[in-house]
Amino acid sequence: MGKQRLALWLAEQLLCTEAAAPCGACKACRYVRELTHPDLHWVFPRPRLKDSDPDLEQVREDYGEATAERAGNSGLYAAPSGTEGIYVATVRSLVQRAVMSPAMGTRKVFIVGDAERMVPQEGADMAANAFLKLLEEPPADTTIILTSSEPGALLPTIRSRVVTVRVPLVPDAAVRAFVENPVVKAALDKEGKSGTAERVRAAAGAPGRLLTGAVDAKATVNARKIMDAATGSRRALHYSTALSQGAAGARGGFADTLDALVELLGERARDALHRKDQASAASASRAVDAVLRAQTSADGNVSPQIIAARLIRELATTLK
Ligand SMILES: [Zn+2]
Repeated sequence: MGKQRLALWLAEQLLCTEAAAPCGACKACRYVRELTHPDLHWVFPRPRLKDSDPDLEQVREDYGEATAERAGNSGLYAAPSGTEGIYVATVRSLVQRAVMSPAMGTRKVFIVGDAERMVPQEGADMAANAFLKLLEEPPADTTIILTSSEPGALLPTIRSRVVTVRVPLVPDAAVRAFVENPVVKAALDKEGKSGTAERVRAAAGAPGRLLTGAVDAKATVNARKIMDAATGSRRALHYSTALSQGAAGARGGFADTLDALVELLGERARDALHRKDQASAASASRAVDAVLRAQTSADGNVSPQIIAARLIRELATTLK
């Protein structure tokens, strides 16, 4: 629905230096739009950093890169994959910056996108408590905006400290204007050739879904490749498919592929049950277990290529 988009607009409104805020023309407005305003801090789910206890500088660098990527992509981005989270180092850096003075203007704005992905971590109670205290009594020059598609998944201690604003579905006319915007259209055309009417229908009031769809489609293609490699007879395919899963950097994409694999295997099990083929249904569900184990490894620091190679071997045995 554009909840983070709305939060960014609010940030522009709060940081604009003109009377008719947001003016869209002053330096502050320009910097917010370019996502380079030093008093705008936007965090969202990210893959876990390699260093298990990263310092705040590493966190800042990671978000600097991720934000620049979003800005470079005209502000369009897909929903985070299942393994991305807002980890404790991020919360720590947010709390630390909240007590510092604004760098450019008179206020600071913090946006926490997909806030339900704030991951409670062992031994991180101090950071969590500091964040709750910040939410309860933010400094007078600080605004904190959390967005979530699953507010019910937010910790009750967080929910009780915020004012809830429900963002309604976007009317079709506005979705149409969005998908017809040349920048958006170019991004969607890269992924597929559906027409405007089809896109408006697929968005169903939540245009962000269209961008996620592109990610899903890629993940499904990848998942099918893994299935084909596992059930095919050519061993060489095992290795080339595993290698094509990319190195550690592609972690987010690989998590989506594993999610898509679980779905494909679910379909396979349902089909088998429909044909009253109990044996195939049982092997498909054992295969799901193998994928779930692979997901656990992917949460750690194991390379997707290694996990994919092992998974393809296991699937080959299970689905024989
Ligand atoms: Zn302005």
